[in-house]
Amino acid sequence: MNNNEQTAKIIKDMIKSNKIPGAFIFEGDSSNFVQGGGTSFADILAKAIVCHDYGHKEKYGEACGICGSCVKSDKGIHPDIIISEPGGEGNLSFHIDKVRDIISGLYLSPNESDTKVYIIKDMQNMTPQGQNALLKSIEEPPPFAVFIITVNSGDLILETVKSRAVRFVLDSDESGKKTPPIYDELIRDILTENPDKLLIYQKLFSSGLEKNDKTEVLRFYSCLENALRDILIAKIFMNYETEEIKKLSNLYSVKKILNLSKKIHKYKTDLEYNINARLNLTSFLSSLNA
Ligand SMILES: [Zn+2]
Repeated sequence: MNNNEQTAKIIKDMIKSNKIPGAFIFEGDSSNFVQGGGTSFADILAKAIVCHDYGHKEKYGEACGICGSCVKSDKGIHPDIIISEPGGEGNLSFHIDKVRDIISGLYLSPNESDTKVYIIKDMQNMTPQGQNALLKSIEEPPPFAVFIITVNSGDLILETVKSRAVRFVLDSDESGKKTPPIYDELIRDILTENPDKLLIYQKLFSSGLEKNDKTEVLRFYSCLENALRDILIAKIFMNYETEEIKKLSNLYSVKKILNLSKKIHKYKTDLEYNINARLNLTSFLSSLNA
């Protein structure tokens, strides 16, 4: 399964179980669109959340498409789907006054549905002041509010905001996104905390230090982040698809997942300024073994 198929599946499971986290982040160049263009993940999710046909949702994990609520969602006039986006083009065009608009209405009950959905588009353009103001709402949202954030790169979102949300990295290009098998093994060994194997990888990668495949190492970090997210989701929903996920869920507290995510983020950020990608990866691995 690629990232987008995996995302679609996780969202369906959430809708089926009617357990919806308080905040989502969809990240990627095409984060606003599912393949083939047209409707975005954010729109599909929002529509499913406010749809009134709970029987249909439980059975299929998606909006019914015909109830009054769905009709309004399709027309873009549902009063409980509130869209907020930058005022113009470019950096910092998403001003704090728009965030204040959100906060001022946040604690008012939904109009027609059980839930109010706030879609916040292109968060990369939001000022840090705006993000900080929004953070408070994401930290302690009323039980009837859900935030859906879209952003082209997660690196542009404050770490504190990210840690409050379930995050999905979407693929813009469906092909050629497969991770090399060695990374699959490496991720497994990292997650199961296998120090001997990690040492072997350290040696392996440090012997290839002249190579500079930044993209590949970045992809590895993204895969590791996705694996952690899947463990987090399995923990939240107590829905274990494989024995492996079940074992890992027992091994990882939420705090431990967040700490490891923070560490990965740090190494990803360092990679931007570090010419040697392999050295970055080797150093990440030795930090795990410490
Ligand atoms: Zn419906």
